[in-house]
Amino acid sequence: MAKCADMNKLIGGSAALAFAARILALVVSLTPLSLALQYCSSRANAAAVQTEQVNRPIASSVALDQSNDRATLTFEVSEPLEATAFVLADPDRVIVDLPQTNFALDPEIGKAANLERRKTNLVASFRYGQLEPGKSRIVIDLALPALVLRVGCEKKGPGNKQAQLVIVLAKADKASFKSAVQAARARLAELAKTKKTVAPEPASRLPVIVLDPGHGGIDRGARVRGVVEKEIVFEFAKALAAKLESTGQFKIVLTREEDSFVSLHERVRIGRDRNAALFISIHADTLSKAAGVSGATVYTLSDRASDAEAARLAAKENRSDIVAGLDPSGDNDEVSGILFDLTRRETRAYSHMFARTLVNYWRAAGRLNKNPRRSAGFLVLKAPDVPSVLLELGYLSNGAESHALNSPQWRDHASGQVAEAIEAFFASRERNAPITTADPDLSPVGKILPSERH
Ligand SMILES: [Zn+2]
Repeated sequence: MAKCADMNKLIGGSAALAFAARILALVVSLTPLSLALQYCSSRANAAAVQTEQVNRPIASSVALDQSNDRATLTFEVSEPLEATAFVLADPDRVIVDLPQTNFALDPEIGKAANLERRKTNLVASFRYGQLEPGKSRIVIDLALPALVLRVGCEKKGPGNKQAQLVIVLAKADKASFKSAVQAARARLAELAKTKKTVAPEPASRLPVIVLDPGHGGIDRGARVRGVVEKEIVFEFAKALAAKLESTGQFKIVLTREEDSFVSLHERVRIGRDRNAALFISIHADTLSKAAGVSGATVYTLSDRASDAEAARLAAKENRSDIVAGLDPSGDNDEVSGILFDLTRRETRAYSHMFARTLVNYWRAAGRLNKNPRRSAGFLVLKAPDVPSVLLELGYLSNGAESHALNSPQWRDHASGQVAEAIEAFFASRERNAPITTADPDLSPVGKILPSERH
């Protein structure tokens, strides 16, 4: 069983003591603040949330020991907790599921850049966070195929009240890893069948607008100098929701109401199930090598990206499910194979109409990217029957813009402009429905060409 002393082995060699000291410093500095570290969805219920947090397990430190074809990840936790683990491929990962736990830890501690690099190491990086209400998850990215030798909690401390969560991985050959992945996929498929279906909401007499704050929970999105995308976009979505609700013209639905992970597929499903008249996914970008780049960009769906930059961004945003330890093969994406039928063509026309309107209104809100309307294959925009756009608010990698995105004054002003764009879009939509007849540039689905007739 790994003990606290194993922290000295975390990165080995002369750097070990410095790193152990860093972890110890974190433990000392973070423990009294652990209650404050949990994200609160609103100030109004902060007291209730805090009371609830007292009863949640707290993980206060973590150590990783990698040697002799093994890797041992040890979390110090405030109480024993149940953990289950499985492996997934493409990319190769170990997933550990737990009851909801407050991680009073530096969120960057498991980043590849903070771990020792050795060719024989099994673990490339790891992260942790909330998956859904009541459930947390640890995702370990593997550098080499490995199996879970042991996962569980051992009681310790006075009166056995504290515990260590220990995850032991052992190097495996490719065939054993593959069969473990197949077994995990079969079990996940069984679990998916038993998942409760949520009763449909009664239809709204007002147009439904789904606001989709990107990322959440274990998926933090982009982060630069302590500014975290999932927090910036959630605050923006809440401000926009309040403005739209105050008009009395719309029914607003948020894809997440707290700092919790929601899969891309689930976000699309919420838009479709709620018969949304508009779906707006909200994100913030980073470009580490071009800190001068700034401005908002509005994206629509296309099979081929409008430019290399749009392709890069879509690939990054589409990784959300992988980051959270979801199995890409298990996602029966019923929308991905839908052809360009009439519904979809109308949806695209409305999506483009709204994107144009939003860019025009944003000019009064702040900076626009030099190419503010782009398109790419964003999974979250794939509902065939819901006009959808993805708004990148700006670049966290640009110091001045990151500062603005984080300020309540800018948020209030910019969300007001977006609300006005939405009102203008619905007003003009009433007046001018887009053309829904066949587009000569697109071959109608199922049409039999004269040469094919018998
Ligand atoms: Zn994002």
